[in-house]
Amino acid sequence: MTLVSSNEQMIREQIESRGIRDPRVLSAFRSVPRELFVPSIARGEAFEDNPLPIGCGQTISQPFIVALMTERLKLAGHERVLELGTGSGYQTAILARLAGTVYSAEIEPRLAATVRARLDSLDIHNVVLRLGDGVEAFRDEGPFDAILAAAAAPEMPEPLIEQLAEGGRAILPVGRDVQVLWFVERKKGKLERTPMEPVRFVPLR
Ligand code: SAH
Repeated sequence: MTLVSSNEQMIREQIESRGIRDPRVLSAFRSVPRELFVPSIARGEAFEDNPLPIGCGQTISQPFIVALMTERLKLAGHERVLELGTGSGYQTAILARLAGTVYSAEIEPRLAATVRARLDSLDIHNVVLRLGDGVEAFRDEGPFDAILAAAAAPEMPEPLIEQLAEGGRAILPVGRDVQVLWFVERKKGKLERTPMEPVRFVPLR
């Protein structure tokens, strides 16, 4: 097996070639070295086309899935974004490059503890991190222009998408064994829900 050896190769072969074309999204990926978010023991596999273990039974998401979810949010730069499941902070860093402020919650203290230093090392300062259940952690800061969840609720988590502002967009995995990525938009007060594709995320806790 030959390993994908650079961030640039990963972007070209797994992201651009599969149809992600938004130049802002691609440049965000170029400015966030994925190897910084992978445990040192897995550095050699940092750019592989799959999720990787990051400890505590959790994973850093597959690069293409991070790109797909990010592109779908169509961030222009001013948005307030809620992220559920900080994990390694990789998706957080990408969102921070594209939005105004990212509010990111992680339920596992041992993962949350390492993220601030990684973001600081990339000069990313527009991220608010909180420890706790992402469905409730930032209720005082909402509503949000965009919401992204990295852990799958068994059913559509209404209390989460309730926090979507008018005109806002959410992307989140839903399901147990079989999960689907859903895209939700609030238009004229109504929630429009569109199923996208089958995915595999860790379960929401
Ligand atoms: N995008 C992250 C993915 C992390 S995996 C990355 O690429 O690194 C999903 C994360 O969601 C895990 O770290 C898990 O601990 C966290 N999680 C699960 N349930 C949660 C909840 N209710 N609130 C906040 N975080 C949660």
